[in-house]
Amino acid sequence: MTSHVEEQIRKRIAAAKQRPQEDRAAFAEARAAGLDSRKRTKLRRIFCATCAKLQRKGTYLRCPLGCGDAVCKTRAACGNTHLRQCPNRPIPEGD
Ligand SMILES: [Zn+2]
Ligand SMILES: [Zn+2]
Repeated sequence: MTSHVEEQIRKRIAAAKQRPQEDRAAFAEARAAGLDSRKRTKLRRIFCATCAKLQRKGTYLRCPLGCGDAVCKTRAACGNTHLRQCPNRPIPEGD
């Protein structure tokens, strides 16, 4: 009468074999979550609306007309160019 014990052992072996797969699934899930958060970080990055340079904290100014775009703080040309292209710019009256 060893069949019952053998069955238990076989079950235990099967369970042990299954565990690495579970770990891999958990790892893949964690990795996917990590990629997701990285993607979100990428989307949160701020680029100059004029020259498309990646901005860091303190290197850019928000559009004074309130469109939400960022422009380089140190390059006046970026701000000036944006103001001419800004969707919030005042519509010039025809002369
Ligand atoms: Zn710029
Ligand atoms: Zn603007």
